[in-house]
Parts: sequence; structure tokens; C-alpha cells
Amino acid sequence: MRREQSWSGVRFLVWTFLRLLIASELTAATTTPLKVTVTVGMVADLVRQVGGDEVVVTALMGPGVDPHMYKATASDLVKLQRAEVIFYSGLHLEGKMQGLFEKMATAGRSVRAATDGVDKARLLKPSAFEGQYDPHVWFDTALWSGCIQTIQTVLTESRPAAAPVFSRQAAVARGRLEELDRWVKIRVDQVDSIRRVLVTSHDAFNYFGRAYGFKVVALQGVSTVTEAGLADVTQLVDFIRTQKVPAIFVESSVPHGTIERISRDAGVRIGGELFSDALGTPGKFHQGFDLGTYEGMVHRNVDLIVEALK
Ligand SMILES: [Zn+2]
Repeated sequence: MRREQSWSGVRFLVWTFLRLLIASELTAATTTPLKVTVTVGMVADLVRQVGGDEVVVTALMGPGVDPHMYKATASDLVKLQRAEVIFYSGLHLEGKMQGLFEKMATAGRSVRAATDGVDKARLLKPSAFEGQYDPHVWFDTALWSGCIQTIQTVLTESRPAAAPVFSRQAAVARGRLEELDRWVKIRVDQVDSIRRVLVTSHDAFNYFGRAYGFKVVALQGVSTVTEAGLADVTQLVDFIRTQKVPAIFVESSVPHGTIERISRDAGVRIGGELFSDALGTPGKFHQGFDLGTYEGMVHRNVDLIVEALK
């Protein structure tokens, strides 16, 4: 009797120990954040919002980097190799990395373009871009919201246990973008429709123009790969003079030289530097918004445009 009692005591201890071990392993498995590598800051921002504490996000391209021309470095390849999930913006924004992502997807890695789920009927297909879609979707805040579902789906595939968390955070992210979209519409109303002309260095703002009622004129095409010729420069100077455009803009991810020259030739002032294909520096603020976030980018751009053109 005594012996049986001590046996059951040992069994109880062993069981308790094993259960504690299993429980601690499960906790560790669900609290280690998912390693996500992304290309551009705009995508990083959305993944952070949807993923929250469940993800740790590494962006390959920082402030001022032009994604059209960007090639993966040796250290980028390591970051991509270590990632459990990879997101890129897509629609050939990362023109020089597209092939790499396709290869990784074929090899069974979790790689997805954030813009995969955006309604194709609402995408622009400029003639200059030879049958491809315009990739600068983030400038229409409502359209950019279409990336959230894809991000939520892919994160959930990799971490099913966090599905309710991703779902809740995706809804919050959607709400924030709706609010931002409303703010942009109210803010741009301060500019008369006749003065809503946005002259920039490369054609990144067509979605912005369509969503918020601006005519958009750019020196270079939808990609920065082709440089502007002399004829383009002369044509743009004539346009600015005849239309009496109040201000033109340089971009953070494109060299400023040609726009500065056009500004001198046309006698028009530069309204400031817009964030086009990259977010700003994290920790720098505009009206309380961190420039390293998508919200900060939109607030800063829209305030610059409105103040220069109104
Ligand atoms: Zn661009």
C-alpha cells in the first residue's frame, strides 16, 4: 500500500513536469515573432499594423531609395533567406527583384506581392508602361487598403493560432486608412480645382491625381528607368508657363537636378520634396506624425502640395 502510494506520487511529479515542459514550449512557439522581410517602407508599415507583436519586420529599402532601380545586395539575400514570410509591393515596382521573388515562390517559400488582392479593375494601365499596371497604388489611400486582406491571409497561413489577432488588427488598419482618406479629401478642398496641377519628376502620382482630383504631369515615365530627354524638359517648361503652375515638386527617391533646372527655366518655385516611392526617416516628425510611417508620408505630402498650390 505504502509502495503504491509512493509510485503514484512519482508518476504525478513526472506528469506535472512533462506538462509544464510542453506548456512552456507552446508558449515560446506562439510568442516568438514571425520573421517577415519586405522591400519598401509602405508595405512594412501595413505588415506592422496587421501583424503587431506577432511579427518582426525587416525592410530592405530605407528612406530615399528608388525601388525601380534597386538590386538585392548580399546582405539582403541573407535577410530574405532568414525570413519566414516575404512581402513585396509588386506590379513591377521592384523591377530588378521580380525574378528573384518568382524563383523563391517556385522553391516553396512564402512570398507574396502585397498588391495581389487590389481590385485589378481599379488599377491604372498607362500607355507609356507598355501594357503593365502603374505600381504606385499607395497614393490612393482607399485603394492601398486593398493590400490588407492579402497580408492578413498570408500571415494567418504562417501562424494560424494568431488568426483572431490578425483579423482584429486588420480591421483597425482598414479604419485608419479610411480616416486618412477622409482627411486627404477635406485638406485638398482648400485648393481651387483650376490650381490642382501636380508637376513632379517621375510619374508616381497618377493614383493620387485620380483619387483627389489633380492633373498630374511628370518629367519621367511611370518607372525611373528611362531618363527625361531635352524635348521633355522644354515641353514641361512651356506647360508650366502657359498654365501658370504655382509650384512644382522634387521627389525623395529621384535626383533633384532636372526639376531644379526646370524651376529656373520656367521661373516657378519648388514647393518642396515629396515622398514618392519611399517613406521618410523614422523618428522625424511632421505635425505629430512620424515620417517613417505611411500616415506621416501622406500627411507631409498633402500638406506640402496644398500649401504650395492654394
Ligand atoms: Zn516610382
